[in-house]
Amino acid sequence: MLSTPHKPHSHGPRSHGLWEATAPAAPATTALDGHVSAEVVIVGGGYTGMSCALHLAEAGRRVVLLEAREIGFGGAGRNVGLINAGLWLAPDDVSSALGPDHGERLLKLLGDAPAQVMALIDRHGIDCELERNGTLHCAVGASGLAEIREREAQWQKRGAPVKLLDATETAARLGTSAYLGALYDARAGTLQPLAYARGLATAVVKAGVTLHTSSPVTKAERKDNRWHLTTAGGSVDADWVVVATDAYSTGPWQMVRTEQVHLPYFNLATQPLSPELLRKILPGREGVWDTKTILSSFRMDRAGRLVFGSVGALRYSGTAIHKAWARRALSKLYPELGDITFEHEWYGQIGMTGDALPRFHTFGPNAVGFSGYNGRGIAPGTVFGREIALLIKGEKTFAELPLPVSNVTPATFRRSREAWYEAGAQIAHLV
Ligand SMILES: Cc1cc2nc3c(=O)[nH]c(=O)nc-3n(C[C@H](O)[C@H](O)[C@H](O)COP(=O)(O)OP(=O)(O)OC[C@H]3O[C@@H](n4cnc5c(N)ncnc54)[C@H](O)[C@@H]3O)c2cc1C
Repeated sequence: MLSTPHKPHSHGPRSHGLWEATAPAAPATTALDGHVSAEVVIVGGGYTGMSCALHLAEAGRRVVLLEAREIGFGGAGRNVGLINAGLWLAPDDVSSALGPDHGERLLKLLGDAPAQVMALIDRHGIDCELERNGTLHCAVGASGLAEIREREAQWQKRGAPVKLLDATETAARLGTSAYLGALYDARAGTLQPLAYARGLATAVVKAGVTLHTSSPVTKAERKDNRWHLTTAGGSVDADWVVVATDAYSTGPWQMVRTEQVHLPYFNLATQPLSPELLRKILPGREGVWDTKTILSSFRMDRAGRLVFGSVGALRYSGTAIHKAWARRALSKLYPELGDITFEHEWYGQIGMTGDALPRFHTFGPNAVGFSGYNGRGIAPGTVFGREIALLIKGEKTFAELPLPVSNVTPATFRRSREAWYEAGAQIAHLV
């Protein structure tokens, strides 16, 4: 059996950054070697795949999970760590796009999703820097304020604990007076994303799932009413296949990738702030992002590093441009940070769909998957994984799932749009 010990920065110095440096180790795993049979084979070791695996294994199902690289290699190990409630789209837009049945069901599920994540973390004792302190969506200018006021009204009419904070209270929470107000969402929070992924992997293995890393699925065939999946070292046959490969899809479900347009997003982490700065800057440790089109986000990690991010890829000319912009933007927000050192830098690709809604696809009989999270995958991926487990266990029908089945539709002009996002972010950050 091939052993795959944890290697720091094994995907390059700018892939998993701070999260790789501070996450507890993943469970020891090996690559698939030989043939195994299961009831369910899950492809992808991110939140969606591991939540599905965990919920199935806890119900006594025989599950094999195959991850191409390492646990959290995809979005799960690179993201900002905001455990958001809901989607990018405002609630009324979700409802009108999906119709009241699916729309309101999805909003209810995703509104409760951060609580589900937090309960899962508690139940399995996952050490992932969980902060249950909510998020602040901060208003830039009058149009930003109007946007968050509208979001407040739409969520409140659905009974959600969100509250518009005025400029004074926002400044007190953030330690900067850069914003006209903020929408506080008490349901949300932050976590260390790779630590959450690795903690889920540990729970998955404990629950009895056979988990193989370094095992990219290269072929999937349907024979004798069963699925047969192939990797370089072995094969799995199963009644069901769950495709949980999302924006980092390779192999037989590349179409999940080509349906999405990659939006690059980077993060820089400062050295740990002094106790004096920590009393002033984001003392409540909420997760923060703003209403700009090319948005910024920030949050603290457990050690008191400020993690600051925005749209852009840290490669080629982008590395210097985005880092210089981040320094300028941070010193406008927090002049007292001075010439603080950035200890870590990394970026990843957010998978965007044409209408900013996630997808539920079938890929043949008993082959299903959610994807297309549009930068909102921690809580949605966790609860969608559980929804698939309920479907496979026969406790939910297709009609009861939060999204209707949709066809995979390749994104138009994908490559040129991706090039434009990368170049456009550089142009915006040069100004
Ligand atoms: C920079 C960035 C910032 C983000 N910020 C946030 C945030 O603050 N909050 C939030 O909620 N969401 C955020 N997201 C989105 C979130 O990270 C994703 O939506 C989430 O990781 C999706 O989970 P997943 O399990 O579906 O997919 P992933 O985590 O991407 O996992 C998919 C896995 O499938 C594996 N795979 C692919 N093909 C194969 C194959 N052929 N065989 C075997 N395995 C395969 C990949 O290696 C990968 O590990 C962000 C994303 C990025 C990139």
